[in-house]
Amino acid sequence: MSETHHQVIVIGGGPAGYVAAIRCAQLGLDALVVDDGPALGGTCLNVGCIPSKALLDASEKYHQARHEFADLGIGFDKLRLDLGQMMARKQSVVDTLTQGIATLFKANKVKYIRGRGRLLPQNRVEITHPDDEEEIRVAEHVILAAGSRSAEIAAAPTDGERIVDSTGALGFDEVPKRLLIIGAGVIGLELGSVWARLGSQVTILEAREGFLPMTDAAVSREAMRRFKAQGMDIRLGARVLSSKVTRKQVTVEYADATGQHKIAAERVLVAVGRTPNSDQLAAAETELLVDEGGLVHVDEQCRTSIPNVWAIGDLVRGPMLAHKGSEEGVMVAERIAGRAGHVNYDTIPGVIYTQPEIAWVGCTEQQLKAENVRYKAGMFPFSANGRARAQGTPEGFVRVMADAESDRLLGVHIIGPSASELIAEAVLAMEFDASAEDLARTIHAHPTLSEALHEAAMAVDKAAIHKFG
Ligand code: NAD
Repeated sequence: MSETHHQVIVIGGGPAGYVAAIRCAQLGLDALVVDDGPALGGTCLNVGCIPSKALLDASEKYHQARHEFADLGIGFDKLRLDLGQMMARKQSVVDTLTQGIATLFKANKVKYIRGRGRLLPQNRVEITHPDDEEEIRVAEHVILAAGSRSAEIAAAPTDGERIVDSTGALGFDEVPKRLLIIGAGVIGLELGSVWARLGSQVTILEAREGFLPMTDAAVSREAMRRFKAQGMDIRLGARVLSSKVTRKQVTVEYADATGQHKIAAERVLVAVGRTPNSDQLAAAETELLVDEGGLVHVDEQCRTSIPNVWAIGDLVRGPMLAHKGSEEGVMVAERIAGRAGHVNYDTIPGVIYTQPEIAWVGCTEQQLKAENVRYKAGMFPFSANGRARAQGTPEGFVRVMADAESDRLLGVHIIGPSASELIAEAVLAMEFDASAEDLARTIHAHPTLSEALHEAAMAVDKAAIHKFG
């Protein structure tokens, strides 16, 4: 039987895989995407970035209406939460965007098969269709982009009802009175924020003693202060020992430095990281190199241990972020087409969509200290920024760090309003190897939040205008 041949087969249609396929098609390559999800877009579009942002934005507006509108001079008689409508809107945002990828595939002539892909020797791919029919196709290049799934812990196994992962916590049908979250990482804090704003009493158990270790220490201190003030009860150094599910609640036992404790909640969200979907992705005879954590071994350009097989996104080293996977997708497509695709791993921005938002790029102060790098730092608070004051969001600050001698930017850290958008300027500046002075001498419109970044860059040279000291 003859096997259908493609130039490129991409296994996985999330932000890494679908972007890789579209870029391949733009470069004239015949690309097929194999994805077993009900809709294209992977975790990010279906049960991750997009639905969580829809709920974060909606819940923030509800919170503002409840607690902040009066200060703006806006009153109303009765505020009502329609959780069903909030969830329906979230789903319609997801549907629009996932269908958008299908439309992009058609426009770019990217082929798509719904099914499960598995790499076989000699760049052959076994595809299992939803009806269990199997077929084998062959490609000159295979791109593995199968993503990741929520990690599990034995002390609190998910049941999809009382103990859930992030997908479950995006779809509660009522606001839990008490929500217990295991893991104070990005998902724990974002989904904790959603449900706290909608009325849940949120407790977060975090195994580590430190809080948000990937962020600058000054930012994590400020974040902890703000989240506590919002009523989130974050307990550090808390090791979960066991959980007991009854008809109406879950009781979780945990230990910290002060001893053993029990805590009960209607729902428990387990958000302790993600595991790469590398198991069952390749037949053993392919000898695909995978490390003990499940990450597929790749070089700087995402080549695996097998010639003409590439791996990108959450399957490989580096932060599990949609935009990182997409950039790797573009790089690999360009490499396959004989071009010089490249990812600058030093300028990948990180964002936490809490309130205030947290965003960063480059090194933290603690990293610079550990590496004995001599640096200068400038800080500017949003409380001294006219636009932040006018819109009622004076919390947080911008910190800029630059090399003590060359003045080259080393890291930018923001906690405050629209940090997720403001960080783009810092990423661009670092991508262009800018100095703090380059940012300081760039004209920023007034009144805008971006002036806080401008003034923080000026503060590196002790020249901020609207700041004492
Ligand atoms: P994470 O790695 O951000 O945080 C997990 C936290 O759980 C860590 O702080 C860890 O110390 C803690 N932990 C681990 N085991 C524990 C245990 N047994 N008990 C208590 N705490 C424990 O992972 P996440 O929040 O699950 O997110 C998963 C991935 O998805 C991350 O890579 C994240 O970057 C990505 N993500 C990104 C965004 C964003 O960019 N805004 C949003 C959501 C998810």
